[in-house]
Amino acid sequence: MFLGVPLLAPGAAAVFTVRLVSVGSLPPAMLGFLQEGVTRELGAAVRMGGNLPLPASCPEGRSQYPGAPFLAALAAARSPGDEVILGVTGVDLTAPGLNFVFGLADPRSRAAIISLARLYPEFYGQPRDPRRFKARAVTEAVHELGHLLGLGHCIDPACVMSFSNSLADTDMKGPGFCNPCREKLGK
Ligand SMILES: [Zn+2]
Ligand SMILES: [Zn+2]
Repeated sequence: MFLGVPLLAPGAAAVFTVRLVSVGSLPPAMLGFLQEGVTRELGAAVRMGGNLPLPASCPEGRSQYPGAPFLAALAAARSPGDEVILGVTGVDLTAPGLNFVFGLADPRSRAAIISLARLYPEFYGQPRDPRRFKARAVTEAVHELGHLLGLGHCIDPACVMSFSNSLADTDMKGPGFCNPCREKLGK
């Protein structure tokens, strides 16, 4: 594991900008630690990009939502240029064939979304643990951004790009890239 080692040397210009957007009702404070974490792990410039409402096809009050309309709304909101857009939502997301997803990415439209819903220990009846919750959220954010930057899933269970079947996988991998993934990113 190479936790906390930025992809770019300190002081190097970031090659892309991440725009961080909350989707649906989410306290703005929720984005601050993600901005910090993504900046630290990716060496990217991260700017706060405001709030989008839940997609029109996703009325408030459901227990779970398909992720695709979220990606479409984010893609439509993305500014032209090198920017990638990462949405953060508090609602639980799913995708065809899966019971739930922690996040989704569409490299073609350079848009990704993560859901915080299943990252809280409380979701599983465990005691509150803000530190662990934040670490999980940063890991999921870096994972989806890795997809936007062209990386697929990695077989190294310690690499941030390994696939999370469960939160135990997320907790095991942490936010760092393995060496081969880091090299691919550099190209
Ligand atoms: Zn993935
Ligand atoms: Zn890897």
